Amino acid sequence: MNVQKDKVVEMHYTLKDDSGEVIDSSIGNEPMPFIQGHGNIIPGLEKALEGMKVGESCDVSVKPEDAYGVHYPDAIQDVPMEAMKAVENLKVGMELQSKDNQGNAFIVRVTEIKDDSVKVDANHPLAGETLHFNVSIENIREASKDELEHGHVHSASCSH
Ligand code: ZN
Repeated sequence: MNVQKDKVVEMHYTLKDDSGEVIDSSIGNEPMPFIQGHGNIIPGLEKALEGMKVGESCDVSVKPEDAYGVHYPDAIQDVPMEAMKAVENLKVGMELQSKDNQGNAFIVRVTEIKDDSVKVDANHPLAGETLHFNVSIENIREASKDELEHGHVHSASCSH
């Protein structure tokens, strides 16, 4: 069986940034399951894994446009401290939910706390980064009907 649309794939991966520093890895944990072709993983990786078999591994570099997007300077804003009064234990790195003019929720990260304002960044932490993956395919199976309808993998301990 090959990695293709609607198959449940379990992979081990190690993710490094441009400087070679490990950002994330599944090694030491269970392999990460996803459904191919449903946007569970970033598009550039999905494309690179298409057709691979169990036991195969590969190195894939994914540009920001095919990963977590380019970095938008406009997504960084200064918010008056006044507007942050309700936030408990405000600190750098904290994620807060915000709403745009249409009422859609989005997440911002606190990147700097100043005397009278707080700098927040709505970019994904990995926006603008080229990502370097080493991936090995551990298992491939058919997705169930429910999994395909929901667009995500169900496991014994977690199905919703
Ligand atoms: Zn579900």
